[in-house]
Amino acid sequence: MDQALRDLLQRMPKAELHIHIEGSLEPELIFALAERNQVKLDYPSVEALRRAYAFTDLQSFLDIYYAGASVLLKEQDFYDMTWAYLQKARQDNVRHAEIFFDPQTHTDRGVPFEIAINGIHRALQDARAQWGMSGGLIMCFLRHLSEEDAFKTLEQAMPHLDKIIGVGLDSSERGHPPEKFARVFARCGELGLHRVAHAGEEGPPEYIRNALDILKVERIDHGVRCLEDPALTERLAREGMPLTVCPLSNIKLRVFDRNADHNLRALLDAGLAATVNSDDPAYFGGYMNDNFIAMFEALPLERRHAWQLARNSFVAAFLDEDKKKAFVDEVDACFA
Ligand SMILES: [Zn+2]
Repeated sequence: MDQALRDLLQRMPKAELHIHIEGSLEPELIFALAERNQVKLDYPSVEALRRAYAFTDLQSFLDIYYAGASVLLKEQDFYDMTWAYLQKARQDNVRHAEIFFDPQTHTDRGVPFEIAINGIHRALQDARAQWGMSGGLIMCFLRHLSEEDAFKTLEQAMPHLDKIIGVGLDSSERGHPPEKFARVFARCGELGLHRVAHAGEEGPPEYIRNALDILKVERIDHGVRCLEDPALTERLAREGMPLTVCPLSNIKLRVFDRNADHNLRALLDAGLAATVNSDDPAYFGGYMNDNFIAMFEALPLERRHAWQLARNSFVAAFLDEDKKKAFVDEVDACFA
């Protein structure tokens, strides 16, 4: 890749729409928070923890992800984690970030819902005040838990609905299809919350279809397996349904073997509204621009694809039309 394209990828304005804030915890911060909170970790050093990041699939990743989250106990911990991510995002010229958080990962350990949401929310407010970075918070339900648990989480969220823009569905996909959460998603829709769901990462195309038809989602998180189903692909393209694709995550979790095998270019060629995102950047080897650069180095992607991906990210964001247009105009100016 030539230097001009690399510079453009770094400098172009972009939105991040698929980032689990607990997945931005770097080993150094995990150790610092463990010390501050006197939490005993199973790893003797930062290096040993980093070495343990050699997982092989979604489940082995999730095991270490939940272990890392165990150091988050106080509101300031959630603030520090979010602030660290927002600084990285700012360096990558992420102008708008819609951040996932997993309240059940914390409430199941006895950390109150409000401790988590208030810390994350305060960091987002500070980024807006200090840098003009816009953003929002999306509350995810853990799909390996029951729908009843999801309803309990929604109940806890009720006093904080002004701090969240929507709900999502994450964690182990296989064996936990979208329809398991039909009723709680319907309730969230009645409350005026945006709806998204992970589908078609490890799960089959049918999960994507059910997320659309049963959960009424407005974006598909991942969705890369849609290409196995031509009728579904055609529908996603026709409806302009955004896909929040996470390339380095897909490689690390063996959805694709190598960067060069990723289907990002094929998704764009099929007319799909694909976007690039970092998923769990501390665990998967990179933040936003690392993901862009890895794909543009490995695949036949050119300047026009960069322009398309940057535009798609703002069009797919949960922003009002005026704000979207202002961001898209900035993208166009960057490529002019
Ligand atoms: Zn994800």
